[in-house]
Amino acid sequence: MNINIKKAQKKKSKPDHTILGFGKYFTDHMFTMEYTEQAGWINPQTIPFDDMAMSPSTTVFHYAQSVFEGLKAYINNQNEVVLFRPYQNARRFQKSCLRMAMPTIPEDDFVKAISTLVKIDKDWIPTQEGTSLYIRPFMIAKDEILGVHPSKTYQFIIILSPVGHYYPKGIKPISISINPIYSRSFFGGTGDVKCAANYSISLLAQKEAKEKGFDQVLWLGGKEHNIITEVGAMNMMFVINNEIITPKLDGTILAGVTRDSVITLLREWGYTVIERDMTVDELIHHLMNKSVQEAFGTGTAATISPVGMIEYKGTHYLISENIGVLSKRIYDTLNMIKLKTGSVHPDWVHLVK
Ligand SMILES: *Cc1c(COP(=O)(O)O)cnc(C)c1O
Repeated sequence: MNINIKKAQKKKSKPDHTILGFGKYFTDHMFTMEYTEQAGWINPQTIPFDDMAMSPSTTVFHYAQSVFEGLKAYINNQNEVVLFRPYQNARRFQKSCLRMAMPTIPEDDFVKAISTLVKIDKDWIPTQEGTSLYIRPFMIAKDEILGVHPSKTYQFIIILSPVGHYYPKGIKPISISINPIYSRSFFGGTGDVKCAANYSISLLAQKEAKEKGFDQVLWLGGKEHNIITEVGAMNMMFVINNEIITPKLDGTILAGVTRDSVITLLREWGYTVIERDMTVDELIHHLMNKSVQEAFGTGTAATISPVGMIEYKGTHYLISENIGVLSKRIYDTLNMIKLKTGSVHPDWVHLVK
């Protein structure tokens, strides 16, 4: 893949790191390439970040044939640009594309497109503690037709957003509400891939949880709608009787890169990690017994999101007002791996050259 590079004439001014938040500001350039059935992937290029003109009939607007990824770039302690396990995202992107009847992109091309773009906008990578450059690759169906069938044309785009510290005021555990009604995934569905539609169907439950004063939704799944699956858009882990329990990858759970990294670290540290179903009744039983020592979500945006309180059918179960010891150790270790290349798991750090 030969990427054509078109540089922006004017550069935008960069916002101060204190106001970055998440996904609000975008860098000077974007990557784009197009797909047709006859030619395959064509026109890989980096161009100035700009609006895109599209017909209102474009398939993606109507049927959500759209997939995405999310990962981050950092400047490490040797002033190098690094990505965290980007080939994991490349492979997951392929899996998502296949599930949504979309063409795939070779892993090397996926990582090369990201690396090329990140290098061009390297000045945009914030360096303050906790900040990073969020990378959002996505693919959309571009046929201009309302018939319901897989599109014949696609566009793959990457945009970059400098993001602020996820916990500007220090890590504070979140409160979550178990939603007894809605599902984000189901057997045979798309819960194990990163498609746009998974997010639109989750928004109402999230809104209702917010209105009741909770930060996130704890999703139930399984055939009886009684199995703990994920929290918000994060994988969920519980520390119970010194063992770590996390939902197994049964096709309804997104295989998070952070989840895999956390499980790997925990096992290396000698902990028992059990990937299995946990019913909501079992969880409530452990919460009532006070045997849930820690609970946390894992994902690229926050790395670790400790859960301090769980609500179910109007009852509030307190876990802790502070981040747990193990959660903190995982959080610190993952951040160290990203920033101090070579320390632990150098295999997880991809240098952008
Ligand atoms: C992206 C995502 C995650 C987290 O995956 P990471 O690779 O760790 O960022 C977890 N759950 C859902 C539903 C997701 O979409």
